[in-house]
Amino acid sequence: MPQAQVIDGKAAAEKLRATLGSIVKRLKKDHSLIPGLAVVMVGDDPASRIYTKNKVKQTVAAGMHSLQRNFPADTPEEALAKEICSLNKDRSVHGILVQLPLPQHMNTNRILDLILPEKDVDGFHPVNVGRLGSGLSGLVPCTPQGCLLLLKEVKADLTGLHAVIVGRSNIVGKPLAQLLLAENCSITIVHSKTRNPQRLCLQADILISAVGQPEMIRSSWIKPGSIVIDVGINRIITKDGTKQIVGDVAFEDAAQVASAITPVPGGVGPMTIACLLRNCIKTACEQQGVSLPHEIG
Ligand code: NDP
Repeated sequence: MPQAQVIDGKAAAEKLRATLGSIVKRLKKDHSLIPGLAVVMVGDDPASRIYTKNKVKQTVAAGMHSLQRNFPADTPEEALAKEICSLNKDRSVHGILVQLPLPQHMNTNRILDLILPEKDVDGFHPVNVGRLGSGLSGLVPCTPQGCLLLLKEVKADLTGLHAVIVGRSNIVGKPLAQLLLAENCSITIVHSKTRNPQRLCLQADILISAVGQPEMIRSSWIKPGSIVIDVGINRIITKDGTKQIVGDVAFEDAAQVASAITPVPGGVGPMTIACLLRNCIKTACEQQGVSLPHEIG
């Protein structure tokens, strides 16, 4: 049995989505504003198909306007670029998300750079990356935002804590480091070339893993009493042949040592989509000159 508090990302995401739903109702009533999210997908990667389906479903459930654009895998890059430019001009669309990965023949950075920074609900545009790094307000990537909200469920003030982040990707590790720096944490980033990562992880008050290695982090990597956030989503086949999703952290083992821990599934994953809707409501308000609702301001 785990000793640690299990941080329930599913419940936190449900609560956030309910708040967002009531904000959307208010925006409709008071400002005739319906936040609109466009989800663009190229190819038919099964995992991406599930992710986009969930994004569309939850956008609609929140009362928002949802647009879906699906392209075959062999679509020329120019056709996708044209679609992004057209969505940039579409006044009913306040947020644009391009589901990654794109097929190999496409230049992902070029496509992401085409999205107007004010419609960049993923927070991947260099303008938003720069704003986050400079401590300015902007659009923050959804998964790191979800991690921070879950940390705040356990500890409101993170000042002075040592956060160790395993993984340095542009979508999770690096923006999370900026967010936690802004919360006055001290940050260590561990990556595949780090010498003795276990020694560094053992120093963490907050340990966040975004690696993609099933159950790489065990109790022997965790400082007693620390908070553990597991971003990893790994599909494995168990010894008895069943398919299972596990995180980067060996949950049962780690929970004997940590004070609080997120499960996989049901931890960071659900928060990511809720934060996407939150970003889209923000962009809609900003584009229409409506003050940000206090709940997400
Ligand atoms: P990337 O593959 O882009 O990055 C992985 C990072 O982990 C890299 O920085 C890599 O180091 C580092 N790494 C790899 N192996 C090791 C190792 N043995 N020791 C230390 N560091 C290592 O992955 P993402 O950031 O996109 O995703 C990470 C995980 O999070 C995946 O499982 C993904 O599915 C999941 N994810 C979950 C989301 C959610 O909503 N819950 C959203 C996004 C991702 P280096 O840079 O040196 O190569």
